[in-house]
Amino acid sequence: MNIFDIPAFTDNYIWAIQIDNTISVVDPGDSKPVIDILKEKRLELKDILITHHHYDHTGGLLELKKYMSGTVYGPKNQNIDGIDVMLVEDELIKTLGYEFRIIETPGHTLDHIAFYNEENDVLFCGDTLFSAGCGRLFEGTYDQLHDSIQKINTLPEQTKIYCGHEYTLSNLEFVKSEIKSDFIKKKYTETIEKRSINQITLPSTLSIERKINPFLLEILPDDIKDLKAVNCFKELRIRKDNF
Ligand code: ZN
Ligand code: FE
Repeated sequence: MNIFDIPAFTDNYIWAIQIDNTISVVDPGDSKPVIDILKEKRLELKDILITHHHYDHTGGLLELKKYMSGTVYGPKNQNIDGIDVMLVEDELIKTLGYEFRIIETPGHTLDHIAFYNEENDVLFCGDTLFSAGCGRLFEGTYDQLHDSIQKINTLPEQTKIYCGHEYTLSNLEFVKSEIKSDFIKKKYTETIEKRSINQITLPSTLSIERKINPFLLEILPDDIKDLKAVNCFKELRIRKDNF
């Protein structure tokens, strides 16, 4: 699957799936960078996939409807203007011939969903899981976000994590303050290098995340590792919020 990023705002990524001269996009928070790419690369816009209702993921939707030939897929949320097909757990959609299964991932928002293509090990997870971090809790409970992330954690380790923001560096700063690990140090150095030349740090993979992302609960700070899983998750989220 050919996927490229369209940067938006200061740290959002709009993901584009491409076949020949046609793309579908995930979470177009802004229409302008998408329209620019369509013109510049002479591409056509087929479908739009939406992970959750936040403006930085949906803001370009209505304008882009004028350019697209396909369908807007998104969560079951009446408050998002422009969704054609509202999706729930385990539903299957097809875009550009690729099948995606819907995984409900409430927590960051209650309506949050992720799109999973098993054949190519691709996961578009919006603001649920980031590289070395996870989304803030705006609407859901710690339990919900913990469960959503554990659901993602059951996917195969080679699953590529296409998340909604370039937060890797600031996330790793938190992680390395909590956990001593050579792998994390190495990732941190690599990430500094990439970001210093404005290079993208995504997609990550689940196997990498299991070694650098404490929110998956596979690596943990020593002082909380005996807590019950969800309490551990809650403590980590609170520490990160205050970091
Ligand atoms: Zn969000
Ligand atoms: Fe966001």
